[in-house]
Amino acid sequence: TKKIKLGIVGYGNLGKGAVEAINQTDDMELVAIFTRRDPKDLHVSSDNVKAIHISDAEKYKDEIDVMLLCGGSATDLPEQTPELARMFNTVDSYDTHAKIPEFYASVHQAATKGNTTAIISVGWDPGLFSINRVMADAILPNGSTYTFWGKGLSQGHSDAIRRVNGVKYGVQYTIPTEAAIQRVRNGENPELSNADKHKRVCYVVAENDANKEEIVETITTMPNYFADYTTEVHFITEEELQRDHSKAPHGGFVIHSGNTGDNHNQIYEFSLKLDSNPEFTASVLVAYARAAYRLNKENQYGAKTVYDIAPSYISQRSNEELRRDFL
Ligand code: NDP
Repeated sequence: TKKIKLGIVGYGNLGKGAVEAINQTDDMELVAIFTRRDPKDLHVSSDNVKAIHISDAEKYKDEIDVMLLCGGSATDLPEQTPELARMFNTVDSYDTHAKIPEFYASVHQAATKGNTTAIISVGWDPGLFSINRVMADAILPNGSTYTFWGKGLSQGHSDAIRRVNGVKYGVQYTIPTEAAIQRVRNGENPELSNADKHKRVCYVVAENDANKEEIVETITTMPNYFADYTTEVHFITEEELQRDHSKAPHGGFVIHSGNTGDNHNQIYEFSLKLDSNPEFTASVLVAYARAAYRLNKENQYGAKTVYDIAPSYISQRSNEELRRDFL
């Protein structure tokens, strides 16, 4: 049978993860990687994959079934998704939660016009976590939903500590507070702010002449980033940083605690523990590319979110097999 033909737009962490994820499927193949940089400067890991400048994407309209959009959420996707959704079926991992409604509207308009199917905000959060929040809330309306993130490397917070005077390198992990998780699992339904639920742990390589006390003070009092949180700062050597902190782990928990009947507590819990955030996120994108392709064949045009997609649409297995082995 014919394979689903994919393109990747943007060759960063997610784009690289997408190459690996496509390789693990039997029903999809990668046609090309599109970039805003000079394609010659992209060091693509597989030999038989072409790198193409993004301005030539339109020429591939008939050769690509679905584009995996792997650009950044801050400035790339708000521009790239509507633009490409006019010509291609797309899947992206837009994760600026507060702006999803306006993003959806602009992508929906483009995809409706182009008779394409554009699945937005796919990944783990938003994505798999969103599905689980909705499932739990639908099933146990008399309850509360909690999301904990981590242990995870936060890019934004790591960048923030690297800008502090005297810091040579630094990484920041967000770690869920064990005590807060326990209270939720106990069914206490506590009121918890993000700062109650998480602590921030920083590993810093200081410049030789740096004042370490001053670094700790600057980091722990930084508004928006650290001031409201319990923050630990640990100084380490460059060798330790290389050895212990070069991966991009992430994950977390969605926990819903609800009551039914005569005050029976029901705990719904979903968790992920990821060694590589971008490789996992790209794997989710690739699975949803199947859904974009299939929905488009059914003339279901416009922007969609994970809420609109039935699980069988993302599976490589037939419905017969799913009923027999997975139900
Ligand atoms: P990157 O910063 O690695 O890549 C973003 C873009 O920057 C790329 O598409 C690429 O575009 C460009 N780029 C990458 N490397 C370089 C370089 N060396 N020099 C110049 N430009 C470069 O971001 P990630 O891939 O890590 O993440 C992408 C987005 O995915 C994030 O913004 C985040 O919002 C989202 N995300 C969502 C998750 C979810 O669960 N929903 C989970 C994880 C991430 P080009 O090739 O065109 O230059």
